[in-house]
Amino acid sequence: MTTAPVRLLIHGASGRMGQALLRLAGDQAGLQVVAAVQRRIGQRVVDGIPHFAGSELPGVPAFDAAIDFSLPEGFDPVLALCAARGAAFVSGTTGISDAQRQALRDASQRIPVLWASNFSLGVAVLDELVERAAAALDGWDCDIVESHHTQKKDAPSGTALSLGEAAARGGAQPRYASLRAGDIVGEHLVQFAAAGERIELVHRATNRDIFARGALVAAVRLAGRPAGLYRVRDLL
Ligand code: NAD
Repeated sequence: MTTAPVRLLIHGASGRMGQALLRLAGDQAGLQVVAAVQRRIGQRVVDGIPHFAGSELPGVPAFDAAIDFSLPEGFDPVLALCAARGAAFVSGTTGISDAQRQALRDASQRIPVLWASNFSLGVAVLDELVERAAAALDGWDCDIVESHHTQKKDAPSGTALSLGEAAARGGAQPRYASLRAGDIVGEHLVQFAAAGERIELVHRATNRDIFARGALVAAVRLAGRPAGLYRVRDLL
């Protein structure tokens, strides 16, 4: 039996992540990109894929799932469109507000939703290690140091904040430091320190393709699932 491919909308198409998603989508079985949306439009059709400006979002053709890697100001309209169209919503946009997190929870009553600050398998595992370490190291200092390229807008990074939530679940009280330098794709160091000893857990992303591939797999697996709030580890 053959199943129809998941019709995918890519939101934030002209960005670093959007370009990686468009380049890698062809390698991912079971999906077809039907629309690419970016803030301002250049060419109408690129490699056979229709492109739309953000203002044209309400008129995009039918789709089953959207992947959003844009900016907080682009996030609300695409989430609302997915809820209205009954499409799955996958987002990696960081720096979103508490109200936008609440909008994700509200939408998850109607559609399958996955928001993640990081789509790499390595960070999903690091998250679990940090929670376990924090629970075992009562009273130790916990510091999270993140480094990214100079174009990154939010700080601390969404991944640092998620790792901090994991540390807090284990009982630690994390502090944050952010570095912006060169073209660093993403590095996260979680340090636990006490008198006379120190543990360092580090994740280094050297290529943003890992995030794009994770999001593409997630979109294929999320489309058609029951409404709800999903996590990366539920799908990868
Ligand atoms: P970028 O600045 O290179 O690209 C942003 C894209 O969003 C552009 O295509 C722009 O046209 C589009 N956009 C902005 N405002 C818009 C609007 N109002 N309507 C429609 N489109 C709009 O950014 P990037 O490096 O590609 O990162 C995008 C987001 O993804 C950031 O929030 C970043 O922190 C996050 N990110 C997440 C992960 C993860 O694994 N979750 C990994 C890397 C980056």
